[in-house]
Order: sequence, then C-alpha cells, then structure tokens
Amino acid sequence: MRKAVWAVILALFSALFAACGFSTDWLGKASSSQPKETGVTIKVLAVGQGDAILIYTPEQTVLVDTGDTGEISRLRAALKKEGVRRLDKLIITHPHRDHIGGAAEVFRLCDVKEVYDNGQPTTTNIYREYLKTIQKKRIPNYSLRDGDVLDLGGGAVLHVLSPTQQMVDERGIQNGKLNLNLNSVVARIRYGNFSMMLTGDAEIPTEEGIVNRHEAGELRCQVLKASHHGSKTSSCESFLKAVDAELVLISCGENNEYHDPHPSVLNRYQKHEMNYYRTDKNGTITVRSDGKTYTVQPEYGKINEPTE
Ligand SMILES: [Zn+2]
Repeated sequence: MRKAVWAVILALFSALFAACGFSTDWLGKASSSQPKETGVTIKVLAVGQGDAILIYTPEQTVLVDTGDTGEISRLRAALKKEGVRRLDKLIITHPHRDHIGGAAEVFRLCDVKEVYDNGQPTTTNIYREYLKTIQKKRIPNYSLRDGDVLDLGGGAVLHVLSPTQQMVDERGIQNGKLNLNLNSVVARIRYGNFSMMLTGDAEIPTEEGIVNRHEAGELRCQVLKASHHGSKTSSCESFLKAVDAELVLISCGENNEYHDPHPSVLNRYQKHEMNYYRTDKNGTITVRSDGKTYTVQPEYGKINEPTE
C-alpha cells in the first residue's frame, strides 16, 4: 500500500516536471548539451563583428570560432541558451581577436575535448593565454591542413581545404606584410547530400588557391559562410563560381566600423543567384539538414537585406 502511494507521488512529480518543460535529462541523466539525435544543425551565432558557428551532428557538438573579446556576453548567452557544456571539437580558423576572443570563456564554460587550429603562432596575449589554457587543461591540440578529413560522427565529415603546409611556412606574408587572414582554416562540412563551406576570414589569394588545388566537385555546397564577414577583400568570382551555393550566411556586427558586408560583394552574391542572410539584420541563423534537403531559419528579419 505504502509503495503504491509513493508511486503516485513520483508519477505526480514527473508530470509536474514535464509540465514545467524539464526533461529527465535535467535530472542529471544526461547533459542537455548532447547533440541533436538526427541530422545536422548549424547555427551561425549572432555575436556582433566576428564568427562563432555551432555545429551539432548526430554524435558531436563542434564550435568553429568564438567571437570577439567585446562580445563574450553574447557568446555566453548563446551557449547557455543552447545548453552547451561539452564540445567534442573547438576549431579556431585563425587567431584574430574576432575569432579567438571568446576562447577563454569557452574553456571556462565547456568541457572541450579537442582543439584544432591552423598551427600558426602569433604574439598576442589572447593567443598566448589560449595556448596556456590548452596546455594546462591538457587538451589535445591539432593543426589542420589542406587534405585533412575530420570525422564529426554520425556520417558528418569535415574536409579541410586550406591552408597548405607551404602557406603556413610562409606565415601569411603578403606584399611584405603579415596577414593572418590568409591562413584561415577553410573547410567543407558534408552530411549526405548536404554541404556547407566554412571560410573564416579567407581572402582572395586563399580562395583562388583553393579553387586551383581542388576539383569543383570538392567545393560545391548548398550553403556558404561568407569569407571575412562579406568584406570586399574576399568572395572572388572564381570561388563563388566553384562553390555555386544557393545561400550565403554573413556573420557581421550591427553598424560595424568596417562597413561589412560590402555592397559590391552583396551584388556579387545576387549575380551568382545566391540569397543571403546576415547576422546583423537576421540574428542567429539556423540551418538544418537531414542529409537530403535543408532548411534555413533566421531569428528575425527578411532575406537579402541590403546595406543602407
Ligand atoms: Zn574576422
């Protein structure tokens, strides 16, 4: 009899929890940061002028870049909203502040299993702290090179297209000046028939190198993350033609000081019949794919918003 009473009380509590929107995961069985069960979901997070792209595959949670130091509160809010407390992989495309700036916060909030970057050292404090944390926490750290293939679990694969070892050896020197953007990690995520290109801040020489080294079939994607926040340093004709995307996602800050994305680049996307969303006008942009088709959902606003 007493057992039956307890069973009823337990059932009532379970119903109450369910009504409040808590899942049994909340009770400690599993972390809510576990990836979605089927398909891939890619979220280009609205973190102002910078990049932070969250990828859920059927088995892993991956973050590509971490936004700027001045936008840490936005990154933190996004990770908390998503319930991300574990990252199977953190990928830093290049060590500029608007990509690596939130790394310290990511290491504080999340259990990071592996770190990938281009392996090109730089002298900034943010970069030194990043390396120090990786060493202190003993997180395996790998350099990505053209031709590398990363298994993201559940059939999702990341093909690295740039930089080459030679590019890193030459340290991204262009016309005698150091340009860290040139050696951004560029990679194509593939899941079934769906693919999306991640570009960091690749500039035209990087994009042209990729087109020269790879067959068109290795580059074609439905979705392209705009190189370098839609700046006119990037998105060259040959790269857009090879990628042949239907949709471009631009990560850029509201009224940013660089005036990204550049109107000429937006025109170029339209000329190549590519629609676009931009995080300054559309908030976080979510792409989902089951490996056959894909859907895209902006947080707000319309498609193809021009720059005033
Ligand atoms: Zn950038």
